[in-house]
Amino acid sequence: MGKLRRARLGVMGGSFNPIHLGHLFAADEVMHALSLEEIIFVTSPRPPFKEESEMLEAETRYLMVAMATATNPRFRVSRVEMDRPGTSYTVDTIEELRKKYPARSEFFFILGMDAARELASWKEPERLLELCSLAVVSRPGFSKRKAAEGLSPEGRELLGHQGVVFVESQGLDISSTEVRKRVKEGRPFRYLLPDPVARYIADRGIYR
Ligand code: ATP
Ligand code: MG
Repeated sequence: MGKLRRARLGVMGGSFNPIHLGHLFAADEVMHALSLEEIIFVTSPRPPFKEESEMLEAETRYLMVAMATATNPRFRVSRVEMDRPGTSYTVDTIEELRKKYPARSEFFFILGMDAARELASWKEPERLLELCSLAVVSRPGFSKRKAAEGLSPEGRELLGHQGVVFVESQGLDISSTEVRKRVKEGRPFRYLLPDPVARYIADRGIYR
């Protein structure tokens, strides 16, 4: 690696309740499309828009993210939000990560098309776009065209920002909500998750 090359780093944030193959496949697709060196998975203990009662304890979610990413040397986990009190906002996270990495590093925050629609309601989205690029990856059921429909002018403007890049992917139609529901109802979920995570959920009786 040349000395003058800027490290390109991906950051994938989420509640990961639990992490599933849709997250990992999306991260891998973005890593390839944007030639990123590594992807840092950031578990949000207290995401702003999620129902509190459905939220598994943060340390357990973080542990499953660590298990899911352990076999990929280019996937890392960070406790940056775990160890910060209060609501988890992406703009604060990127700011903190930027202090921990060499100043020349370039950050790409990865989010699915469904999350991109909500950008205007995030904390300080304009400042976020000064701190990093946004890599918006396809998610089955959320097309780019549909994402733009019914969006506020502000949301539309944010998605048109030059720091927003779209990564087309076939995508995997998996959500944590669906996984939790399947576990609760005793339906199959094993092959929607990395093996160690599926086993952990089954053995501990999580989400039942
Ligand atoms: P929940 O159903 O609980 O909302 P989720 O499956 O949407 O869970 P999150 O933790 O909410 O997972 O998502 C974290 C990030 O990963 C978001 O940016 C989301 O858009 C993205 N993401 C989640 N699942 C997929 C998927 N199957 N394909 C692409 N992106 C995804
Ligand atoms: Mg979600």
